[in-house]
Amino acid sequence: MKLIFLGPPGAGKGTLAKIVSEEYNIPQISTGDLFRSAVKEGTELGIKAKRIMEKGELVPDSLTVELVKERLARPDAATGYILDGFPRTIPQADSLAEFERLDSVINFTLDDGIVIQRLSGRRICRSCGAIYHIINLPASREGICDRCQGELYTRDDDQIESIKNRLEVYKKQTEPLIKYYREKGKLKNIDASTDPEKMMAEIKAIIDR
Ligand code: AMP
Repeated sequence: MKLIFLGPPGAGKGTLAKIVSEEYNIPQISTGDLFRSAVKEGTELGIKAKRIMEKGELVPDSLTVELVKERLARPDAATGYILDGFPRTIPQADSLAEFERLDSVINFTLDDGIVIQRLSGRRICRSCGAIYHIINLPASREGICDRCQGELYTRDDDQIESIKNRLEVYKKQTEPLIKYYREKGKLKNIDASTDPEKMMAEIKAIIDR
């Protein structure tokens, strides 16, 4: 099962991709996570991506497509995967279509106001990557991960100015993909304003159909 999770930042794509990945035993391939690891490791790609990411802008298509191509060539992605955060532009989608055949594109729909509220309250564990929210899913002890006691932090691009920029970038560059995949008959919408259990039930119905 080859899936794309499409939608604005903060729509829950990462959270749901993790659940689907475990349930269907297919890898979650998040370009955001791949770029963040490259930044952390200080690779050539990471050095190029760092400042672009901090501003909430998009890493150039050529670099991004290369990264995804390499990742998809690994054996664990042979029979299926969830692409979380890729493609984000029409040229990326065109490149992907040259070397992959997708099953479905799941479009997470969510209003801007909720995006801002969700992202500005998001906190992430530095050690295990668990995701919290100061209002919707708070850690039992402020700033400390329930699972591993790691330190919780706010991503640089979850600062308010960067969130607004990411939303603008999403509307300009990524939203056209909704029409693109609808016209290809691949698009399935899900309501991303509900809780993860309901969203998972909708996704399951799409996958198992
Ligand atoms: P995310 O975790 O998906 O919100 O991604 C974090 C940041 O990584 C984005 O704001 C971009 O700077 C970069 N990024 C992730 N995926 C892509 C992509 N498909 N194309 C270009 N840049 C990306």
